[in-house]
Amino acid sequence: MPSCLIIGECMVELSPLDANTLNKRFAGDTFNTAVYLKRNLPDCAVSYVTAVGDDVLSQEMLQEMQSEGLDTQYVAKSDSKTVGMYLVSVDDAGERSFSYWRNNSAARQLMSLVTLPDSTFDMVYVSGITVAILDVPQREQLLRALAGYRERGATIIFDPNYRPLLWTSSQEAKDWMSRFYAACDIAFPGGDDHAALFDHADEADILGYLKPMNIREIVLKRGVDNIEIYQQEQHESVAVTPVANVVDTTSAGDAFIGGFLAAKLAGYSSAIAASMGADVAGVVIGAKGAIVPKSYYQSSLANRLYRNDSGEVLVTL
Ligand code: ADP
Repeated sequence: MPSCLIIGECMVELSPLDANTLNKRFAGDTFNTAVYLKRNLPDCAVSYVTAVGDDVLSQEMLQEMQSEGLDTQYVAKSDSKTVGMYLVSVDDAGERSFSYWRNNSAARQLMSLVTLPDSTFDMVYVSGITVAILDVPQREQLLRALAGYRERGATIIFDPNYRPLLWTSSQEAKDWMSRFYAACDIAFPGGDDHAALFDHADEADILGYLKPMNIREIVLKRGVDNIEIYQQEQHESVAVTPVANVVDTTSAGDAFIGGFLAAKLAGYSSAIAASMGADVAGVVIGAKGAIVPKSYYQSSLANRLYRNDSGEVLVTL
């Protein structure tokens, strides 16, 4: 059975249903990826690592994780902190903005609170948000933990997911991002993130910056443009089918990674994994919310075929 350990923060998401009513859900970049990975590869043991409080909301969050089939045995409980929360606001033009309450979030102490298993996993995934919410000693602890998993055979996955508000300065973010890039085997650098943080103008800038880090596989995703995959000297470009009716792009990147990792853990090539990731993201942006309803998700992805170069069907979701 394939296995994946995902470390990060899940939050309460409040979004408006109408002028006076808020809808409550649970979301967060690494959690979203965990959910879509598990939905695509139910046979995979997906363990989510975070810290929650001892209150009703924290309990509901844990139940939500379990209802998606995630393994929560490594989720720690704090008796003094709670879970983070964000509010989605939509202006008259349909533009979304977010307000966060996460200073009292138990996840900010997750490396101090959790006992990470010594066992091996096929993959371990962290994002730049996981890194940003931790203090410096915990970031060091996380890097040591990743190195240990890597030594025991895990593939380390990193998506920088740069959120300026979580860092004290862009220099601090750059320093830590480069250390986590250097600690990973598969990276998902985002064009927007690299433009904002490193002033990178294009793909050549991003690849030039990442070259000395010796990352085994670099996957560049850029909205509707082709996905570019770089593995040492090898380069592959995978087309994305444009979605005609985009409803909500929240978590497109997270969903892509969930689909991509599911396919890789099932043993498929990176090109096929990128096609699956793109299909998963395409379905997710066609409905509201970071985590779209299971029934809509399954019916939208049913019977998709993935073929190799000779036209042979490899897998159906
Ligand atoms: P993020 O900014 O959330 O990291 P991207 O904008 O790079 O995400 O999109 C992630 C993936 O979502 C893309 O690689 C693509 O597969 C899919 N995607 C995004 N926008 C569209 C679109 N308009 N039509 C089809 N797929 C899309």
